[in-house]
Amino acid sequence: MAETGSKQQTGFTAGLTRYRVTVKGIVQGVGFRPFIYNLAVALGLKGSVLNSGRGVIIDVEGDTGIIKLFMKELEANPPRLARVISIEREELEPRGYRTFEILFSRSDNQREALVPPDVALCGQCHQDVLNRRDRHYRYPFTNCTNCGPRFTIVRDLPYDRKATSMGGFPMCQNCRAEYKNPGDRRFHAQPVACPRCGPQVTLVTSQGAPIKGDWLIRFKQLIKDGKIGAIKGLGGFHLVCDAANSDAIHALRERKRRPAKPFAVMCRDLETVKKYCFVDEEEEEVLTAPEAPIVILHKRVDILPRGLAPGLATLGVMLPYTPLHLLLFDDQVDVLVMTSGNYSDLPLAKDNEEALEQLGSIADFFLLHNRDIINRCDDSLVRVIEKEPHLLRRSRGYVPRGIRVPVQKNGPVILGMGGEMKNTFCLLKGKQAFLSQYIGEMDSLESEKNFLDSLDRFSKLIKAQPTIVAHDLHPNYRTTELAQTIPAEQRCAVQHHHAHFVSCLTENEKTGPALGVIIDGTGYGADGCVWGFEILSGDYSSYERLYHLKYLPLPAGEAAVKNPWMMAVAYLHNYIGDAGRQVVEKLLPEKENKLDFCWQVLGSNFNSPLTSSGGRLFDAVSSLLGICHQNSYEGQAAVELSELLPRTIQHGVKPYPFTIRGQEIDPGETIKNILDDLLGEASREQIALKFHHTAARMIVEAVQAAAEQTGTAEVALSGGVWQNRYLFLLTKDLLEKEGLSVLYHRQVPCNDGGISLGQSVVAHWRWRKNVSGNTC
Ligand SMILES: [Zn+2]
Ligand SMILES: [Zn+2]
Ligand SMILES: [Zn+2]
Repeated sequence: MAETGSKQQTGFTAGLTRYRVTVKGIVQGVGFRPFIYNLAVALGLKGSVLNSGRGVIIDVEGDTGIIKLFMKELEANPPRLARVISIEREELEPRGYRTFEILFSRSDNQREALVPPDVALCGQCHQDVLNRRDRHYRYPFTNCTNCGPRFTIVRDLPYDRKATSMGGFPMCQNCRAEYKNPGDRRFHAQPVACPRCGPQVTLVTSQGAPIKGDWLIRFKQLIKDGKIGAIKGLGGFHLVCDAANSDAIHALRERKRRPAKPFAVMCRDLETVKKYCFVDEEEEEVLTAPEAPIVILHKRVDILPRGLAPGLATLGVMLPYTPLHLLLFDDQVDVLVMTSGNYSDLPLAKDNEEALEQLGSIADFFLLHNRDIINRCDDSLVRVIEKEPHLLRRSRGYVPRGIRVPVQKNGPVILGMGGEMKNTFCLLKGKQAFLSQYIGEMDSLESEKNFLDSLDRFSKLIKAQPTIVAHDLHPNYRTTELAQTIPAEQRCAVQHHHAHFVSCLTENEKTGPALGVIIDGTGYGADGCVWGFEILSGDYSSYERLYHLKYLPLPAGEAAVKNPWMMAVAYLHNYIGDAGRQVVEKLLPEKENKLDFCWQVLGSNFNSPLTSSGGRLFDAVSSLLGICHQNSYEGQAAVELSELLPRTIQHGVKPYPFTIRGQEIDPGETIKNILDDLLGEASREQIALKFHHTAARMIVEAVQAAAEQTGTAEVALSGGVWQNRYLFLLTKDLLEKEGLSVLYHRQVPCNDGGISLGQSVVAHWRWRKNVSGNTC
C-alpha cells in the first residue's frame, strides 16, 4: 500500500490527487454545497462535500491539474452570498472515488461555521412569484439558495432544515425533487417551500377572528379603506398603512403614540422610489442589495403626506424583501408605511399571540402566518454620504455576519453589553466581532428579557460563552446590572466615550494611539458627570480626556434630556444670569408656567448633574430658535435644527466666537451672539448654519491643540451627533485641510449601537496587557 500523500506511489493513476478542503466563514445556507457539487461534476472530479460545524468540508479527488483549476475557481468565484474567511487544504491518500456526492451534515462540537444573515428576495424567485404558470405563483414564502430567511429562522447549528422553524413543514414531492436536484436553484435550500407544503398566511381582525375571502384581495381593500394593519414579516411585525393617505398616517401616529418620529416606507419597486425620492447610483445599489436595508433618501417635494416624516426633508425607504411584501402592492397602492410593529419603545412583536395582545389597540387587522420567528430582527438603516453607505442601524441582512477586528487570535471570548439606548451586544471571538441585532432601548422588563433571550440564542449560534463581560461605567444602566448576573470569570467597566472611540478605531483596523472626537447625548464620565463633547487621546486600553465642552447643570437631570427648552433656559441662566430671565419669557412664552420651577432648580443646583453633552448644546440652540422644545424621539431637536441647513457645505461662513480655556471649550460667547442675532435681523437658517460652523470650529481648534500636545495626526469621530451629515462633512473637511487623517464609522453605527463593539475590544486589550492579573 502506498504512503499517505505520495501520489507517485499510490498504485492509482499517476497524477491522481486527493485533498480534504475545509472552507470557513459564512458558507452554510448560501448555496455553497451545490456550487461545489456543480463545479466538481463539471470538471469530472470525484469525492464529496458536507456541511459540518467547522465549515464546509470537501473531499476531492482527481487529476492534479484539474484540482488546481477547481481550487482556483473556489477561491475566485464563491457563491454571491458566501463570505469565505479561510480555505485550508490537506493532502490525503487517493481512494478511487467513482462519484461526487453531497453528504448529510455531521453534528460535532466545534461550531465555527456561521449562520448567514437573511437575504432579500432574488430576481428569479421574484419572477416565479409573479408567474401564473409557476407552482410558486403568489406564494409568500418562495425562496431558493440565493435568497430567503436565514438568521431569523435558525435555532441551532449546523444550519439544516430541522434546526430552523421550517422543521415542522415536511417538503412535498415537488419541493423535495428540486431540493435533491444538484442542477436546481433550490438544491439544498433549507427553507424551500411551496403552497402545498409550506407555511400559510391568515388574515384576522384585531380580535383574532378570521377575515373570510381571498387574503390578498381583502388585504388590499382594507389598506385602500385607510385601515391600519399589522404584518408578520421576517424578523418581526410591521405596522402598515397606505403611505399616501394622510388620515391613516395620522391615526397610526395617534394610536402608536408616536407624534413625530419618521415612519419608514416600502415602495413597490425602484421606479416608485424614484417617483417619490431622489436616488443616486450608490443609494440605488444599497436599496437593491441582498441586505435590503431602509435607505434615507431626499424626498421630492410634497408628493407624499408630510405626516410621514414631519419637519424632515428625508424619508426612510426600502424595497420589498420577501415575496409576501412584493404581493402587497398594486397600481393603486405603490407605497406603504412599514414601521416597526411595537408599542412605543417596546421590542418588536414576534409571535402571533404576542402581536395580537401588544398591537391589538393599534392595528385594525393582522396578516399572520404560521412560520415562527426565532430571532427577532429589525430593519437595518443606512444613509449614503458622499458615495459611502453608513450604517445607522445594523440589523436584518447584516447580522450575524462577523466583523474582522485587530485583536489577538487566541484571546478570551468577550461579551460587550452595550449601553442603554439603541442597544446591541457584541461577542468577540477569535479575530471576529459578532454584533447582535438591534435590541433597542433598555428601559423595560420586556427589553431586558429580549436582550437575555437574544444573547442566549446568539451565543449558541456562534458557540461563544464569554469569560469576560465588558459593560458601561454607568452604575445604574440596566446593562451594567445585568452584566453582574452573567456567569463569567471577569467583568470590565468601560467608559462610554472610550467605547465609542475604540469602536471607531476597531472598524478602521487602527490600534492607536489616536485622538477621538466623541460627541453624543449622554455618557457617564469617569468623574461622575454627564459627558458628551469630548476630545480624547489614547488607544484600545486607555485614554486621556484632553478637552471637553464646559460643564453646565442639567436641570432636573433626565427631564432636560426630553425637554430641550430646559437646556435653553440652563444656557441662559448660566451665561446671561438674571437678564436671561426676560429673554426666556420672550423666546419661550408657552413655557411660562414651568419657567419658575426650572429657574429655581438651576439656582439651587438641586438634582442638576453637570454635563458637557454636545447633544444638549444642539438641543438648547434648537429650542432658542423655536424649532423644537420637546424631544418626542432621541435627537429630534438636533435633527430638526439640521433641516434648516443647505445640502452642500458652504464655505466662508463666519463662526460665532467661543473660547478654549485650559481643558474647557466655552460656548458662552456663542450663545450670547446667537441671542443678538435672534433679536436682530438674522434668519433662523443663517443662525443654524453659523452655529454648525461654530461647532466644527470648536472641534478643529481643540483637535489642533491636542495634535500638537500628543504628536498624533489620526482623529476618530464617533458618537450619535455625527449622524448630523452637515456637521460630519464640514468637520471632516476642515480637519483634513489641517493635514489630519480622519477615521469614521461605516459598517458599525456611530451612535450607541456601536458601543458594545468598543467595550469588548477595550476588555480584550486590557486582558492582553495583564493576562494573569485582574484585567479591569
Ligand atoms: Zn431566490
Ligand atoms: Zn412544496
Ligand atoms: Zn453614546
